[in-house]
Amino acid sequence: MTRADQQTVFIANRGEIALRIIRACRRLGLRVVCGYSEADRGAPYLDLADAAICIGPAPASKSYLNIPAVIQAARLLGADLVHPGYGFLSENAGFAEAVTAAGMRLIGPSADVMRRMGDKVEAKAAMIAAGVPCVPGPDSTLPKDPAAIAAIAEEIGYPVILKAAGGGGGRGMRIVRDPAALAEACMLTRQEAERFFGNPDIYMEKFLQRPRHVEIQILADAHGTALWLGDRDCSMQRRHQKLIEEAPAPGIDRALIAEIGARCAASCREIGYVGAGTFEFLYEDGQFYFIEMNTRIQVEHPVTELVTGLDIVALQIDVALGAALPLSQDQVASAGHAIECRINAEDPESFSPSPGRVTGLHLPGGPGIRVETHIVAGAEVSAHYDSMIAKVIAHGATREEALSRACTALAELRIDGVRCNATLHAALLADPGFVAGGVSIHHFEQWLAAQEKADV
Ligand code: ADP
Repeated sequence: MTRADQQTVFIANRGEIALRIIRACRRLGLRVVCGYSEADRGAPYLDLADAAICIGPAPASKSYLNIPAVIQAARLLGADLVHPGYGFLSENAGFAEAVTAAGMRLIGPSADVMRRMGDKVEAKAAMIAAGVPCVPGPDSTLPKDPAAIAAIAEEIGYPVILKAAGGGGGRGMRIVRDPAALAEACMLTRQEAERFFGNPDIYMEKFLQRPRHVEIQILADAHGTALWLGDRDCSMQRRHQKLIEEAPAPGIDRALIAEIGARCAASCREIGYVGAGTFEFLYEDGQFYFIEMNTRIQVEHPVTELVTGLDIVALQIDVALGAALPLSQDQVASAGHAIECRINAEDPESFSPSPGRVTGLHLPGGPGIRVETHIVAGAEVSAHYDSMIAKVIAHGATREEALSRACTALAELRIDGVRCNATLHAALLADPGFVAGGVSIHHFEQWLAAQEKADV
């Protein structure tokens, strides 16, 4: 008897990550079922599942974000476990509770842990307690009294950044460079926090001028083992949205990363974290500063899979099934370098989405190339969802080899019928700043501004 005979995984997600989870379930011999929206009806990846059911109309609020519809579909299809993927309901503690209340298990941490780490102020307090360094600023929400707020800002030193305690997705943040602008900035950020996240609490921290975004992947089981699986650099961003990710982060002292990684793993053991997760940091002048934890699988997990040789999604499902992690920290290896380019169906210059029918498709291959996509020729790219349609990931023995393989793969990629940003990626991979390694989170926007200047 194997657990495979008994367990069914319901995927509460769509697109490339749904396909990634289907593949992991197949590998584990599990039954796997999907919920889909009317816009995704007939998508080829659904044929790879054992069963699939419509959960509602195209708008995510009526389907992928509709908790009662998702729970009902999972029950109808006989699910024991629910995989939330990323985005949608993946960090919604109310959903985690609903899954448990319906007698199923969420592939992820408990609702309590998710709620605690989803509140950025609480997460920061937990990290400080675990000895993880954070961005300077109090580990509490701001008081109402303007004089008290001004005193906090003076103590931190300008510029400061205001952030929504319940925030996410790059929203509900405001930089304040000048004391005169503080009161109004607080008011506006509180209003945004209330509107976007239903929680007006905000907090303040030092605004770092030229940081890099470096994160640590962790994986923890229910038996007290928590491992860190290495680091990723995701500094290439536009409007706080990641565009290129790589592992490991170039040019950072490995001993320092190992120390931070060990602290992240220790804090997982302390808070009783089970599942895959990511600790996000800003890195500046040789120092790490924790900013937030993501309590789910991330888009960029494949770069870590390629350098460690681990199947993080399969391990994530395994630990949700109650298995102990099959390796110890000293068995976590890292070989070579990996780079991921997020291919979006959008205009490479204006960044406006380019939905429509994919009329022709050629995906790259060859040594060290992995492509994650649910798209096939004839597929419809819906305007209702995120524009990311594929991830091209390259692995090499060195960073140079990974870069060179990524360039060859991007040149080979052909997507007809919709516009995509492959040419933008090709230009970025040839940018001397990026090639040198270690760019800041502002690099891409500065690069764009320089291109625009050169064009006039
Ligand atoms: P979200 O949850 O909305 O993604 P984060 O707290 O992870 O918000 O921050 C998103 C991005 O905002 C970071 O990757 C970084 O680019 C920028 N950022 C956040 N905090 C700071 C800070 N203290 N100083 C400078 N930049 C910051």
